[in-house]
Amino acid sequence: MCKVISIANQKGGVGKTTTTVNLGKGLSDMGKKVLLIDFDAQGSLTESLGYSNPDEIPSTISDLMQNVIEDRPLNFKSCVLHNDEGIDIIPANIELSGMETILVNIMSRERVLKELISQLTDSYDYILIDCTPSLGMLTINALVASDEVIIPVQAHFLPAKGLEHLMRTISKVKRQINPGLKIGGILLTMVDRRTNFAKSISELIRNTYGNDLRVFQSEIPLSIRAAETSAAGKSIYGYDKRCSIANAYTKFTEELCMEVG
Ligand code: ATP
Ligand code: MG
Repeated sequence: MCKVISIANQKGGVGKTTTTVNLGKGLSDMGKKVLLIDFDAQGSLTESLGYSNPDEIPSTISDLMQNVIEDRPLNFKSCVLHNDEGIDIIPANIELSGMETILVNIMSRERVLKELISQLTDSYDYILIDCTPSLGMLTINALVASDEVIIPVQAHFLPAKGLEHLMRTISKVKRQINPGLKIGGILLTMVDRRTNFAKSISELIRNTYGNDLRVFQSEIPLSIRAAETSAAGKSIYGYDKRCSIANAYTKFTEELCMEVG
């Protein structure tokens, strides 16, 4: 059974892409067949997997979506890239930015990605979707296509307002279109363990949301290594397996899988 997981938060720069890459690599190291979908026109996921010029990639997620919309057959062969580290990826680039507007005017606009992914679930154990930082039609498509959503939250200050919006969107998608959607949990990222302030933020988030939602025990520490790794175009595993971030993401992957079984 394939599990489809969205990594979502409309707030920018909270670690969605970093989490997608490292969770993907963690699952792949456990022997799972993993596909990552870049669902952000910035193409950061594509770039951080070693494709340094996303805008020059001829076939991307937006072409596949366009084919779904026009009822044409999907050519995954020309679109799925195989990364050096053994992870498959459907790339994105600037072309995806036009998709929000295209989607507004079509039938079943919330289900385009779901339709596309339904043709891939036989080939993978996990499909991870790296969402764009907005709550527009693209993120709704990702939520409709998913079994589960993981929400990275930067442990910098209490981003309660933003999370409320996201929760409302998730509830609406659940109620109206995808009743099976589950909130996998909140993952605290960029936790600066040197400060008491970060510790209290982490406790505050746990106290505020812990009753209703799962907040993963694993926390991702703040580390310059994360930024260096994105720039090197490799997941943290390919970069330095012993660093604190790699360890934290390994623990997180194990924690996530323990529940899944
Ligand atoms: P966007 O909303 O723009 O898509 P995002 O939520 O996907 O952003 P990332 O791209 O994963 O966030 O991270 C934002 C920046 O922070 C990147 O430069 C990344 O390298 C860096 N970063 C991610 N995680 C950490 C960490 N644990 N410690 C330090 N820097 C980090
Ligand atoms: Mg991102």
